[in-house]
Amino acid sequence: MKEVKKFETESKQLLSLMINSIYSNNEIFLRELISNASDAIDKYRYQSLTNVEKFPLREHEINISVDKKKRTISISDNGIGMNKEELINNLGTIAKSGSKEFLEKLNEAKEKEDVNIIGQFGVGFYSAFMVANKILVESKKEGEQAYKFTSDGEDSYTIEESDKADGGTSITIFLKKNEKEVNYDRYLEEYEIKSLVKKYSDYIRYPIKMLVTKSRPKLDKDGKEIEGKSEEYQELETLNSMIPLWKKNKGDVTEEELNNFYKEKFGDYEDPLISLFVKVDGSIVYDSLLYIPSHQPYNLYSDSYEKGLQLYSKGIFIKERAPELVPDYLKFVKGLVDSPDFNLNISREILQETPMMKKVSENIEKKIVAELKKTKENDKDKYKKFWEAFGEHIKFGIYQTYGMKKDLLQDLLIFKSLNSEDEFISLKDYIDKKEKDQKYIYYASGESADAIKRLPQIEKYRKNGIDVLLLDQKIDEFAIMMLREYEKVEFKSISDEANDEMSDEEKEKIENITTDNKRLIDNLKEALAGDVDDVVISNKLVDSPVCLSTKDGLSLEMEKTLNEQPGMEEEVKAQKVLEINPSHELFLALSEIQNDDELVKAYASILYDEAMLLEGRDIKDTSEFVRKVNELFSKAIKK
Ligand code: ADP
Repeated sequence: MKEVKKFETESKQLLSLMINSIYSNNEIFLRELISNASDAIDKYRYQSLTNVEKFPLREHEINISVDKKKRTISISDNGIGMNKEELINNLGTIAKSGSKEFLEKLNEAKEKEDVNIIGQFGVGFYSAFMVANKILVESKKEGEQAYKFTSDGEDSYTIEESDKADGGTSITIFLKKNEKEVNYDRYLEEYEIKSLVKKYSDYIRYPIKMLVTKSRPKLDKDGKEIEGKSEEYQELETLNSMIPLWKKNKGDVTEEELNNFYKEKFGDYEDPLISLFVKVDGSIVYDSLLYIPSHQPYNLYSDSYEKGLQLYSKGIFIKERAPELVPDYLKFVKGLVDSPDFNLNISREILQETPMMKKVSENIEKKIVAELKKTKENDKDKYKKFWEAFGEHIKFGIYQTYGMKKDLLQDLLIFKSLNSEDEFISLKDYIDKKEKDQKYIYYASGESADAIKRLPQIEKYRKNGIDVLLLDQKIDEFAIMMLREYEKVEFKSISDEANDEMSDEEKEKIENITTDNKRLIDNLKEALAGDVDDVVISNKLVDSPVCLSTKDGLSLEMEKTLNEQPGMEEEVKAQKVLEINPSHELFLALSEIQNDDELVKAYASILYDEAMLLEGRDIKDTSEFVRKVNELFSKAIKK
């Protein structure tokens, strides 16, 4: 019985895009279908491992055939096949989250008339509708009824029983009519198919076969060649080399091949930022392809994101994701590892424990870091792109390992800085540029580089030309805390209250002012007792009247970050210190009225609120602040 079913909404959108597409790179449909066929064979072989009765061992191949008269191309495999439900679930709905992402991207792009991103995406099965106006899928799962699925890519498809006898799937594409801009007939040509298979699918591990027409000398009845006469004959030819890309010699693999492989394998629509082809042949032996994407995967920060590399042994697929092969902080790295020393049937648990696995993963970590260092030296723009997408993870690596990876990772760090405009600088750059007698590597933290540049306590550094690292990511200070020093120069926050760099002369000056204004300071302390731990005369400020610093290493930014963490039961509190600029006219005025205890106390909160605002923080009671400022205003005007 033939059933007619509707596609789900998202599928419909994607399909109508595909069928109406005149994307010139529509050739990728073949790659997508071959890749599906290869996956289906992988799945069959995997089932055979545990259920050889239902899935007997067999030779596997993918077959391509072309019918010029009917203008069809068929791609058949003897893989896992699909039963009725699977046909409906897999082909009637968008299985891949990547396709959803593609749709979103496309919607964004629509207004900007850039529909060229089609085809850069691995949109799987549906991509066939770029070249087809009808598709027929016949599929049989071992031991189950075979079914036939047909669709013209509009809003419905049909499904009915089929008499397909062999297990596997066969997909027939009915090519669209040629259009002015696009010639679909090219896909009926042998050489075209051959070259597409070479280009995109050469490394597929199963033979991709096609009947090809060849020519040979004509023989007479005695079996002798007839001179000048030849005849055509057909022969099944394997079109792909079947050598996995990573098994080839480095010199034989082009950048384009590496990139194509990445896009197809890992469902990205952009070339990777960095591809790394690793061959290790020593006490451990493995081949690996490692990729750093050029953008964050859309789900990198969600629970659904899984890190890990694909695992192969001697070219045979073992598992999709081995998380133990990359450390957490490199979770954005994609790729695969193939080692003859990985045992084929081992279970997950055993896999984790092998010392071999550990060695490989350490080795891979080193290779990736080394490549990143190389990129940092040789290609600043590329590194900047990397850093903007994944820099946070490197800092996370330093923090999460309690500084144990300091030596490995510290030279990957780059920062914005007060003196470097929009450029990033490394810790080495900072050390090289600083004056010999500068005791510390200074840093300041805040919401954004611009906000940090507005901090009152940075004024002095700006005035004296001393560079300050601008830490605008939450993780920054936590990572710095783990580093503690770089080349024996300690880090120091410009918002740290402790100040051991004052000259004796300066110290004396501050002490004197403090003594002279004891009553003022005590009054302020008393009035602000719940808000700050101390009130001091500062030598940090140039133009601003006040600033907030902290004691004991926990900064205001860290306080905020920690309190935002889910599951924090008790609020963390930084030890705040209100620092007052003794050269500011506000201080001079306060100093004059310091004996008027009530007045000083009444306005203490304004000083604190000002300091909070300068830190880019919210103040507790805005209307109270406004009321007090107005009161002061009116007094000043009345005078
Ligand atoms: P993807 O292959 O990336 O998951 P597709 O849209 O290409 O996305 O395919 C959707 C699903 O249909 C696949 O995940 C797979 O389960 C199934 N499928 C596609 N082609 C075949 C095939 N040749 N044999 C068996 N199953 C297939």
